[in-house]
Parts: sequence; structure tokens; C-alpha cells
Amino acid sequence: MGLDLRADPIELTAALVDIPSESRNEKRIADEIEAALRSQAPGFEVIRNGDAVLARTNLGRGSRVLLAGHIDTVPVADNLPSRYEGGELWGCGTSDMKSGDAVFLHLAATIAEPSHDITLVMYDCEEIESSANGLGRIERDLPDWLAADVAILGEPSGGYIEAGCQGTIRVVIRAAGTRAHSARSWLGDNAIHKLGAVLDRLSAYQPRNVDIDGCVYREGLSAVRIDGGIAGNVIPDAASVTVNFRFAPDRSVEAAVAHVREVFDGLDVTIELTDAAAGALPGLAKPAAAALVAAAGGQVRAKYGWTDVSRFAALGIPAVNYGPGDPNLAHKVDERVEVAAITATTDMLRRYLT
Ligand SMILES: [Zn+2]
Repeated sequence: MGLDLRADPIELTAALVDIPSESRNEKRIADEIEAALRSQAPGFEVIRNGDAVLARTNLGRGSRVLLAGHIDTVPVADNLPSRYEGGELWGCGTSDMKSGDAVFLHLAATIAEPSHDITLVMYDCEEIESSANGLGRIERDLPDWLAADVAILGEPSGGYIEAGCQGTIRVVIRAAGTRAHSARSWLGDNAIHKLGAVLDRLSAYQPRNVDIDGCVYREGLSAVRIDGGIAGNVIPDAASVTVNFRFAPDRSVEAAVAHVREVFDGLDVTIELTDAAAGALPGLAKPAAAALVAAAGGQVRAKYGWTDVSRFAALGIPAVNYGPGDPNLAHKVDERVEVAAITATTDMLRRYLT
């Protein structure tokens, strides 16, 4: 027998976990999800794209909520099939993120009259290189399927709404000098010594904490690498320090670069930008997102790392992570999820969607 979407989402989580679906091997689970949606979610238009399954209602509601979950997992670590122990369900994918998938699939099959139109995106290959990511392929092949007023990704978030993400840039700060024999050091100009002033500025730097839509972002400016030196008897003529700036999404990449230049202003160094990724604003002030925050009782926090939330933010769609799993247990051999959290997440989203 196939998946029973109307079963308790705890049991549905176990059923999904017991279909192994390491990245690039999602065909079987996608087949089962597609068949179950076609037979058990009558109000939904269902399509298949590679090993992703998409479904949506077309009820003409004033707003559309997109529920997205990846159906792949990291490689199994001798932790299947799933088992219950101490109020928790154990096994590969329980937390990241088949419990989130189960909540979404269950809601799609059991909410008869949603107050928003619903789009369901169950996609492949999230756990590997981003060029393979199923959501990226859907964005290229089926962009109209990603239209929504708010997107909820069921990634493990410990019951919090996690929104936005910080940006990141890396710069290489180089000092130049003059080579000389260290026995006659006065003939040289030591490039390593010039980095002392750079490190002083880093030590004295006071990072901002920025509150945006109730999410507090913590910035950080850190040396992550240092290079210099030629030999034990040579005054070095070159030295560099690589600095990583993690910045709140109220700054653009350009503004972040300008800020870093300002921090090191007046020093005898050059600054080269080597790497940059923009952040994403949480966008929780928009109505469909604000209603979600209210339904969650205001349990909101900032997301620091880059996730697929940023893909939606780049499309101008407010997006959050909200799933029953614990992010600290993702990808671990002892991966597990509290079954009570699956129930709580289902209840909260049902209130929001009805
Ligand atoms: Zn995940």
C-alpha cells in the first residue's frame, strides 16, 4: 500500500523516513508522493518535474501560501528503518526534513476550505551542490509555480519562525614593504608589522545587533586567515589578512564593502573584494507573513546561514523556515524528532491556513 496522507503526521513521517531517498535517489519517494496526492488531495492540480512533485489549489483566494520541502536526505548512517523511543522518532531524515514534509502533505489532504490558496513543492537534491537543487530547476522550468505571497520551508527550526538571512563578504587586506636581510632590518620595511594596525582595528570593532521585523541579526567582522613571511632571515615585503564580514540584511553588498573600507580607512594597505553573497530581508511586515507570525505566537528569530529561504527572498517573496525538527540534530547519526513537535507544527499551520 502507498502513503496515507490522512494518517497522523507522526505516522506519515515514519512512512516517509522508511523510504530511503538519499540525494539523486528520490524517484521512489517522489512516485509515492505523486500517487498519494493524485488520489488523496482532490482539490489540487498535481504535476511532476524530474523527481519533484508540485501541487496547487486554484480557488481564487486573495493570497497564496507556498509550502516547500526537500524530499532527499544525506546518506543513511545505519539509522533506518525509523523507530520510536522516549517520545521521539529516530532515523535518517526525521528532523531534516521528512517531519516537515509530512506536516505539509497531511495538511494538503485534510484542509477542505483553506483561507489561502496553497502551493505544495516537494523537491529533490537540496542536500548536495546548489547547481543540482530541484528548487533551482523549478525556478528555471516552472517559474509561475513559485508565485506566492509567503513561502514556508519545513526545514528544522525548533518551532521558531526563522526568517531572512545574513549576507557575507570576504576581502583580502594586503600590506606592502621592502625586502632586506633581517641582520640589517633598518634597510627594509616590514609588511607583517603593518598588519598590526589592521588587527588592532578588528579587535576594537564593535559589531551591530540589528532588529528587523522582530528578528535580531548579529553582525561579525573577523580575520579568518593570515599570510606573510619569506624566510627566517628576511624582512618580508608582503603580508595579508583575509577578513570575513557577516552583515545584517539591511545592508547591500555594496554598502557592506563600503563599510569595511571605512573600518580600515587611513591604513597603509590595499583592500580587495574576493567573495560576496547578499543577505535577505525577512519581509515579515507583509500581511500574509505577519499573519503567520501571529499564528506562531510571535516565536520569530533571525536565520544566520544561507538557505533556500534566500531563493524566495531573491524573487521578492517573504520566506521563512518553520518545521518541527531540531536543526542541531540534522545530518547526525542520532537524528530524531520530538513527536509532540510534529503535532504542534501541524496544529499551528492548520490555524494559519484555515
Ligand atoms: Zn534540510
